[in-house]
Amino acid sequence: MRLLLVEDDERLATPLARALRGAGYAVDWVTDGVEAEHLGWEEPFDVIVLDLGLPSRSGLEVLRNWRAVGLRTPVIVLTARGAWYERVAGFKAGADDYVPKPFHDEELLARIGAVLRRACGGGAGALRVGGLVLDEEHQEAVLPDGGRVVLTGTEFRLLRYFMLHPDRPLSKSRLAEHVYAGDDARDSNVIEVYVNRLRRKLGRERIVTRRGQGYLFPSDP
Ligand code: CA
Repeated sequence: MRLLLVEDDERLATPLARALRGAGYAVDWVTDGVEAEHLGWEEPFDVIVLDLGLPSRSGLEVLRNWRAVGLRTPVIVLTARGAWYERVAGFKAGADDYVPKPFHDEELLARIGAVLRRACGGGAGALRVGGLVLDEEHQEAVLPDGGRVVLTGTEFRLLRYFMLHPDRPLSKSRLAEHVYAGDDARDSNVIEVYVNRLRRKLGRERIVTRRGQGYLFPSDP
């Protein structure tokens, strides 16, 4: 999943970006409001983490502008602890959730996971599709027979994207856009390699090839 982190405090953002990448998100990090507004509109992010106090344009204004032009990407705002008026203003501007500073990475990760599942129409709890369960904490897949499959970083990101979008044809270029960050070299042919690795680990029937369309992850394989 592609994640845009907008935070001008480097002491907070540097370790946070590392933790988010460790949790399997392809992270783009920007520090400036105007740049954030442009990038959030330009690139297909799955979720945005937005600080409110930013140079050149406030986070609230950025969020209002995104919503005004129809951007529906889920946004979690970072607010000052105790500043209830910031939370109210954030929700009014179109935020999906908030996390007060300072926070534990685990809380933000749990909220990101919940917001993503809601945005994709899923329920609470572990991601579960077609008898397969994704253990996001350990980055493993749990098979219907209880067997556990260890995934590499890219395999995990790809499988999570598939499981959040079951029964829909997904093109190689769309998959590549959501699995890699903006700075990464993005080659959609590599997706084929990772799809085949997932098939070897999880079973061929898990990922169906749709000629001319890409791949589909069936909810009833
Ligand atoms: Ca700030």
